[in-house]
Amino acid sequence: MRNNMFKWTLVIGLSACFQMTDVMTVYGNDAPLDEVWLQWWKKEKREKPKEGIPKLRGGSEHPERTRQQPVDMRILQQRYPDTFFLQGSATQNRVALTFDDGPDPRFTNDILDVLNQYNVPGTFFLMGSRAVAYPEIVTRIQSEGHVIGNHTYFHPNLVDESSLETLEREVTRTEDALNDIIGFRTRLFRPPYGFLYNELVEKLAEMNYLVIGWSVDSLDWQEDPPEVIASNVLGITHPGAIILMHDGADWNGDRTNTIEALKQIIPTLQEQGYEFVTVPELLNIPFSK
Ligand SMILES: [Zn+2]
Repeated sequence: MRNNMFKWTLVIGLSACFQMTDVMTVYGNDAPLDEVWLQWWKKEKREKPKEGIPKLRGGSEHPERTRQQPVDMRILQQRYPDTFFLQGSATQNRVALTFDDGPDPRFTNDILDVLNQYNVPGTFFLMGSRAVAYPEIVTRIQSEGHVIGNHTYFHPNLVDESSLETLEREVTRTEDALNDIIGFRTRLFRPPYGFLYNELVEKLAEMNYLVIGWSVDSLDWQEDPPEVIASNVLGITHPGAIILMHDGADWNGDRTNTIEALKQIIPTLQEQGYEFVTVPELLNIPFSK
């Protein structure tokens, strides 16, 4: 019995040593041991997006969005009119509601309930990491007649990262993840924080994507009361508007006020004679590859 215990202790001890050697090989021999373990722990965490809600790698919308935009979306739209869209035709009373950063198990289902209640469609730009974590919400969005677009995998600040490889990896990984769930490849892309520059737009065009910005910002990421979010939208909505809202938030964010604001925005715009359509309907563009 004692002999057996000794054997097992030896086996466990040896295997721990081998794993440690593995870690040391990966991270080099000059790093202090606690740093090695810290890196190993961080790597483990990175590779397990299912544990808790996947975060927004570039930070929550609030601090990022208050910074100077690298290239104004309106300039990019003028430079790349066949790839970059901010709004639809002003000749029809049609508008599109768009929702970013989901699927979020805390808020997306409530948003879908409100859209159902008023029988209006939305366009959802999803994070790949969250789609993989909550595929049942993605399926619900799809089955209820809404349109799905690509919003990167981890929500990086693509301008800060400044790398075509990062863009390609983030977009392709999300495209594959969404394809596994909904069975087709979306052509619609929205950049995190609306941040892009020329080369990134050109890369997206090369990857057969259409970039969707917005013309009406609800500023719901500021988490003001529902009446404020509603008046932000109602004050500037115009024929052909693409309206930016969020069904997802970072771990400490809250979209309860967005859900309540929608209950004011939708009936008011309907009374004003607006029809709600999806982004591809509004722009008359294809939604899949
Ligand atoms: Zn976002």
